[in-house]
Amino acid sequence: MSNLDDQSAIYRCKNCQTPIASRSELLSKRFLGKTGPAFMFSHARNIIAGSKQDRALMTGIYSVAGIYCSNCGEELGWKYLQAYEERQKFKEGRFIIERAKIFKEY
Ligand SMILES: [Zn+2]
Repeated sequence: MSNLDDQSAIYRCKNCQTPIASRSELLSKRFLGKTGPAFMFSHARNIIAGSKQDRALMTGIYSVAGIYCSNCGEELGWKYLQAYEERQKFKEGRFIIERAKIFKEY
């Protein structure tokens, strides 16, 4: 498997196979979601965002919105809307998707 192939891989909803994000949009695998390991993506598609809420996470307080598969409604993770701490601002607009909710397809 070449690196180029890996970059074109697609992450899909584990429940209904809808494409959610591509490997080239993956920024980090070092996040923790509600169910365990989670990935950070720069973009996500075929999702619906829930209402904005403030949430205290390990690294500070954020405004976030839950994100759901637009096809099956499965909760996938959350989107960072606003970070209150300056050094966490890079997370704004990015998506956290739980590893347990998606699978990678080449
Ligand atoms: Zn789905």
